[in-house]
Amino acid sequence: MERTLVLLKPDAIQRDLVGEILSRFERKGLKIVGLKMMQLSDELLNEHYSHLVGRDFFPEVKSFMQLTPVIALCLEGTDCVNTVRALCGVTKAREAAPGTIRGEFGMSVQANLIHCSDSLETAQVEVPRFFKAEELFEYPDALINYVYSAR
Ligand code: UDP
Repeated sequence: MERTLVLLKPDAIQRDLVGEILSRFERKGLKIVGLKMMQLSDELLNEHYSHLVGRDFFPEVKSFMQLTPVIALCLEGTDCVNTVRALCGVTKAREAAPGTIRGEFGMSVQANLIHCSDSLETAQVEVPRFFKAEELFEYPDALINYVYSAR
């Protein structure tokens, strides 16, 4: 079982898409093991988007991510990182495949609704960046044999 980090960005919150997006993950069969709202600090964003520091659009990305609180989500499941990535769609929302979250709801590169970890290694850094150990939960999943029946 893998865990991955998801952030619902300010555009998802303003556009009332939180329930829709959470529902997609639930219906897919992914397990929510952490969920909270948080206002992102400069410090956290500098760390989270450290690969973008120095890019001309970085200040805009940062202020966009601070327009409202975001919703942080930790999801668990088999091959969860790649599965969530596929459900989100590519960064440029206009080019994201129909059926994906960005492909269905987004028109922008910056306002692309959602962040998700891009690899297992990244997820292992990003989950503890946003969640304390006591904010993540282990609990029985009543439907696990139906969701994963044949693996
Ligand atoms: N971004 C942007 N302009 C760009 C590239 C990225 O505004 O040219 C924003 C966009 O919101 C993206 C975030 O910066 O989601 C992080 O970029 P990254 O390349 O890590 O893409 P992601 O992993 O989010 O798809």
